[in-house]
Amino acid sequence: MENLNIKGQIITQHDKGFHEAIMGTLFNKWDTGRRPLMMVSPQNIDDIISTLHYAKSVGKKVSICSGGHSWSANHVREDSILINMKGFNQYEINRENMSAKVGPGVGGSTLLIELFKRDLFFPAGHCKGVCLGGYLLQGGFGWNGRKYGMACENVIGLDIVTANGEYVHANENENADLFWAARGSGGGFFGVVVAFHLRLFKKPAYCCSITHVFDIKHLESVYHWAAEVGPSIPDAVEFQMLMSSSVLKFLGSGIEAIAPIFAETKDEFEASKAFMVNSPIKKKAFFRTPCLPTNMSAMYSAAMTHYPDNHHWGVDNMWTKAPVEQLIPYLKVMSNNLPPAPSHVLWLNWYPPSRKTDMAYSLEDNIYIALYGTWENPNDTQKYGSWANDWMEKMSHLSTGIQLADESLHKRTSPFISENHLHKLDKIRADRDKDYLFNAWHSRPI
Ligand SMILES: Cc1cc2nc3c(=O)[nH]c(=O)nc-3n(C[C@H](O)[C@H](O)[C@H](O)COP(=O)(O)OP(=O)(O)OC[C@H]3O[C@@H](n4cnc5c(N)ncnc54)[C@H](O)[C@@H]3O)c2cc1C
Repeated sequence: MENLNIKGQIITQHDKGFHEAIMGTLFNKWDTGRRPLMMVSPQNIDDIISTLHYAKSVGKKVSICSGGHSWSANHVREDSILINMKGFNQYEINRENMSAKVGPGVGGSTLLIELFKRDLFFPAGHCKGVCLGGYLLQGGFGWNGRKYGMACENVIGLDIVTANGEYVHANENENADLFWAARGSGGGFFGVVVAFHLRLFKKPAYCCSITHVFDIKHLESVYHWAAEVGPSIPDAVEFQMLMSSSVLKFLGSGIEAIAPIFAETKDEFEASKAFMVNSPIKKKAFFRTPCLPTNMSAMYSAAMTHYPDNHHWGVDNMWTKAPVEQLIPYLKVMSNNLPPAPSHVLWLNWYPPSRKTDMAYSLEDNIYIALYGTWENPNDTQKYGSWANDWMEKMSHLSTGIQLADESLHKRTSPFISENHLHKLDKIRADRDKDYLFNAWHSRPI
């Protein structure tokens, strides 16, 4: 067996600190018990190429991580070689061209906070720590994403090391098959992304947020109202509701209705906040904020209270267009057995536009429901570990598929890309990765 000689770091199963190194790549501290054979942290592109040649020569599969925020620990696979791209965390912002070149290990929040300071914007994800590598590949539901599109729609090119060990650029005209596949295949992509080229936006003139908080006894009226106003909520609002057993951190069971608004003009701003300001149920809220101006640092801090570090997580999700009358009975029973906060049930008002971009990403629907169960003590895994999956299984007849962002394909499967796009993706994979060097999603071992 040949040796792997690279500039970057290699740690193998036999080395001290291996367990800690693998767990250190993960946001979700629920240890699946799976372990790769070794983890390689490349320093440069030659290191990546050598690692791929090495993996082929020893007949092992490859997986990749950047920020390690896959809830399902998609990169931690048995008998595989893990390439950790966290160190590829450089970025360059080109104001003139309204573009940026970013490494996969760049945190979305790092980029967006930096852009904000320069009056620029990109629809990065809602939490600190989520890196652009996994985020952009799976689609990317980001700030102001209803307006600016899926984050991956704003990827204009990628630098990739292919399964053959070639370093290529992919865009609309060059290696267009890889470009198509890289926008939506998520953890099923078959290449190592070294950099993304992004289209930037001007910072919206109005960045504000309104919150109404309801006691759980108003569950029915809150969801009825949300379903009624949902289709007409302007696309400058990413309206969402979080149901938990302790709203605003210390209060009891309830629902936080939150409307972040990113508007370009005064008229758009007024129109965007109207559904909250004129809400017929707002008087039922025991806590209400006015429409407060905010910035990205404050938005990220608020979001992070729902997703703390060093926790175990069991997460699952569904897209739906089911009538609210069919959803409420489930939400009601769920509200009586929520795991402790910050575990929560997210209702995201999505109502996607018909997308013009032809890309692997292809499955979405009007309402997104995601369950985030979390616990600190590993002894509670038995108690809370399957909460999210069990509920999503019970509601699967109301679902039209799932988001890859919050997948738990190691536990439960459901469509995540349309059938014809999955077929096309399989064909591109068979052509580009003939030996199936790269691991695909948990539910579709290849
Ligand atoms: C707290 C939290 C908040 C989140 N918020 C959002 C949100 O607001 N919007 C949203 O859309 N998603 C969100 N997500 C989901 C998140 O976007 C995905 O889990 C994403 O995959 C994370 O990217 P990563 O690089 O951090 O993760 P990783 O776990 O490193 O990557 C996930 C998978 O992507 C592939 N991959 C990663 N890097 C590369 C690379 N360089 N080349 C090739 N393949 C690669 C691998 O298959 C890997 O297993 C959130 C997740 C968490 C834990």
